Amino acid sequence: MLEIANLSLHYGQHLALDRVSLSVGPGETVVVLGANGAGKSSLLKAAAGLVRPDIGCEVRFGGRQIVGLAPHLVPEAGIALVPEGRGVFGDLTVAENLALGAYAKRARASEAESREFVYSLFPKLAERQGQFVNTMSGGEQQMVAIARALMSKPDLLMLDEPSLGLAPVVVGELFAVLGRVRKSGLALLIVEQNVKMSLSIADRGYLMEAGRVVGENSASGLMNDDAVKRAFLGAA
Ligand code: ATP
Repeated sequence: MLEIANLSLHYGQHLALDRVSLSVGPGETVVVLGANGAGKSSLLKAAAGLVRPDIGCEVRFGGRQIVGLAPHLVPEAGIALVPEGRGVFGDLTVAENLALGAYAKRARASEAESREFVYSLFPKLAERQGQFVNTMSGGEQQMVAIARALMSKPDLLMLDEPSLGLAPVVVGELFAVLGRVRKSGLALLIVEQNVKMSLSIADRGYLMEAGRVVGENSASGLMNDDAVKRAFLGAA
């Protein structure tokens, strides 16, 4: 479904992505692991059409070329990104944030149905529809960000460090919800520092280092990989 082949990206002289190849199949959950600065956010931004990779590079989604597409047309293609830092509208209510999420043409006709789906995933948000988002906790705001992204009726939901800055118990809740999103049939591409949690809901994963993909394996394969254990799971 998402196919990235030999994707390179420069910021000025700096090579942030170096011939990255990666794919996500329909309904698959894929995790990208890597230290700070490995290029994980740049990868998601390129897949969301927010940064332009080097000339000649392709990002295909359902066979369609994403590179060069205006950023507001990417949701129409069926891709939603929950950016690092969430990008919610703090001075709007939960319900208003969700309504903005359904702005894409493909999402408008089924807005009511999508709202019902996201409120069933996040019952707490259903109770707090009228609450201003900037009065909510970090965990609740992350839920709003995910709910808003789901309102665009994506086929692929991409999440950039969704657990960043959240308390462990909230991280647990977050991944439980992502597990339910996965079961609903959506494909997920998740960039995470929380390796254990993210691999626990993933089918496959990639390991990035200095802009390159240096490993690819099943979730259980990565969990037992020595390089992953050394870098992320605190093993000697
Ligand atoms: P983090 O987890 O810290 O966000 P990351 O793996 O997501 O790291 P990126 O944010 O993709 O990594 O950054 C990859 C490299 O590109 C880094 O060296 C970063 O400093 C650089 N970079 C990112 N965005 C820009 C930009 N807009 N201009 C210049 N350099 C950038």
